[in-house]
This record gives sequence, C-alpha cells and structure tokens, in this order.
Amino acid sequence: MPGEITLTIDGESVSVPPGTTILEAAQTLGKHIPTICYHEACTANGLCRICVTEVEGGRVLAASCVAQAAEGMKVHTRSERVERSRRTILEMLASAVELGDAPEIEAMLQDYRADAERFPGGERREVPLLDDNPMYVRDYSRCVLCWRCVQVCAEDAQYTYAINFSGRGFETQIATFFDKPLPETTCVFCGQCVGVCPSGALKPKREWLMEQGFKTGEILDMTRGERRKRRNGGAA
Ligand code: SF4
Repeated sequence: MPGEITLTIDGESVSVPPGTTILEAAQTLGKHIPTICYHEACTANGLCRICVTEVEGGRVLAASCVAQAAEGMKVHTRSERVERSRRTILEMLASAVELGDAPEIEAMLQDYRADAERFPGGERREVPLLDDNPMYVRDYSRCVLCWRCVQVCAEDAQYTYAINFSGRGFETQIATFFDKPLPETTCVFCGQCVGVCPSGALKPKREWLMEQGFKTGEILDMTRGERRKRRNGGAA
C-alpha cells in the first residue's frame, strides 16, 4: 500500500502503516512477543521491558510495545541477546514477587528457562493483604507494578484516579492517596482494575474467600452483610 513502511522481522518482510509499533507489526505476521505491562485496552508505556526486541544497528534493545516500526528496519524478536534480557527480567521478578497467581508469567519462566532461584536471599515484596471493602482484596506482595490498574482507573477508562504509584525504588507500590481504605477514596468499584490485573494482586472478594475455604452461603452472608453494614454506617 502506498505510504506504508516495510521492515523485516526475523527475516520476514512486512508492510505496515506509519505509527505501527514493532509489537503490532510482529502480530501482523502472527509472531508472538511476550508482554506483561502491555494490555490492548491501555496506553502502552514500555515499563516491564519483557517485550524487548533487537533492532540491527540499535544501541539498546527496543521495547516493542512503544518502539515504532521504521522503513528498512531489521528486527529480531528472539535473538540470544533478547532471550537473555527477558530471562533476567523474569528471574529478577521471581526473586522479589510471589508469582503463584500469575499463570502467564509462570509460563514465560518456563519458556525462557528462567531460574527462579538465580537471585536467592534478595529482598522480597512482602506486604500485608488489604481487605478493606466488600468487592475485592489487594495483595501487593503479588504486584508486578505493570501499572494497568492505575491506567484503567485514570484516563484509559474510568477517570476516577483512586489509585496511583507511591514510594520510590524497591518500596514502590500501588496505593490510594494517604493509604486511605478504598471506600474512603474516589473508587466506584467498577472492577476494571481487577479485570486487567495479570498477577492475582487484585482479586474479587468472593473468589478470595472461596480460596480460603468458605462455602457459598457463608460468602454471600459475609459480603452482603459487609455491604449492609457499611450502608448503615457500621450497624449490622
Ligand atoms: S495491582 Fe495488578 S494491575 Fe495493578 S500494578 Fe500491580 S500487577 Fe499491575
């Protein structure tokens, strides 16, 4: 098509409209590039770097969810350098975060032969589970800081701004303003953050209670009772 950009990905030629990212161009060819922070409903931001690809002549690996395709580009999606980079990212993630509820990331660990024990004895993200509302629980020891929940709570969907990053470096965490309980924030419990969370850090309350061994009737009593209590200002 006139005006299109032609590049090669793993030796295969593809033509795409200007503005197409490397990730999208690869998808056109049916190639899979792993992603964690990327979600098709969210603005891509290249945070997790798992989608890096090697562009011939490039100094650094390019995050394919944000790097745009260019005329004549030669991209490698599974070069040795790319695989090593993805493996290291996964090993670092596994060293710090509980990934037991993140099946897609666990599959990546297998795919890239990542050694989850490569960085033993390092600091782990260990924070108490937050159970402050009838709708969902927050277990940030499982959080991979993909930022999807913050994005859908803000301009990517809901325009509610109930949560954001807080802290710096390893202490960075998703939080409400002043760590207020969710019912005291602007949260409208739309559930979109839970829907996009890839790690199990955000989980519907009923699903979580089921995992704790409660029966359906008990769960309904607990969650409905909790809502009623809140409506009545604390009285059951
Ligand atoms: S809570 Fe879930 S969606 Fe939010 S940043 Fe953490 S992993 Fe991502």
